[in-house]
Amino acid sequence: MSVKVTVVNHPVAAEALTHLRDQNSSNQFFRAEMRRLSLVVIAEALRDVPTTKVRVTTPLAETDGIKIAQRPVLVPILRAGLGMLEGMSKLVPTAEVGFLGMVRDEKTLEASTYANRLPDDLSGRQVFVLDPMLATGGTLIMAFHYLIDLGATDITAVCILSAPEGIAAVEKEFANSKVPITIVTGALDEKLNEHGYIVPGLGDAGDRLYGVV
Ligand code: URA
Repeated sequence: MSVKVTVVNHPVAAEALTHLRDQNSSNQFFRAEMRRLSLVVIAEALRDVPTTKVRVTTPLAETDGIKIAQRPVLVPILRAGLGMLEGMSKLVPTAEVGFLGMVRDEKTLEASTYANRLPDDLSGRQVFVLDPMLATGGTLIMAFHYLIDLGATDITAVCILSAPEGIAAVEKEFANSKVPITIVTGALDEKLNEHGYIVPGLGDAGDRLYGVV
């Protein structure tokens, strides 16, 4: 099964991304615009979420409605994924939330995990990984393997901005995956630079959200 990639094409997302790219945007404004852009990307990521039919009575008549069939699992990748969690939990208030803390070595660009708080069993669960920047793909590849090992049956990465190199790496790694993998991204940029940053990009998303630590 191949990896499905959707690039969101929406003027609200494009305007918010312009503000995120602007080096003069403050941390506070950056957080607000990340939330705004997240809502658009997340709504797209939820487009095919399984639903069941319900009946509902309006003040005038009875009619058909739907409800989201399952309680999805959201996994923000710390730190920057936290910037997308509020939007996602607004759109799916019943979701369960697990956390992965991952950092990449600035020299080797290898990802490593410093915190792992996931449900013990993800059998039959649909999981949404929140990771704003899909750069080399190393972080997402490692996260997807954790989730598959725990039994996740459907995985979607929700990203703000992606590099072609990162998408290609995820596609290569999961080309024959039995678990359906989807990437929904707000935009696709030109390339990675020699330090593994997305160009033109928006810089370090964690630093821009929360300040340099
Ligand atoms: N992570 C970021 O925050 N920004 C990049 O450009 C690449 C990885």
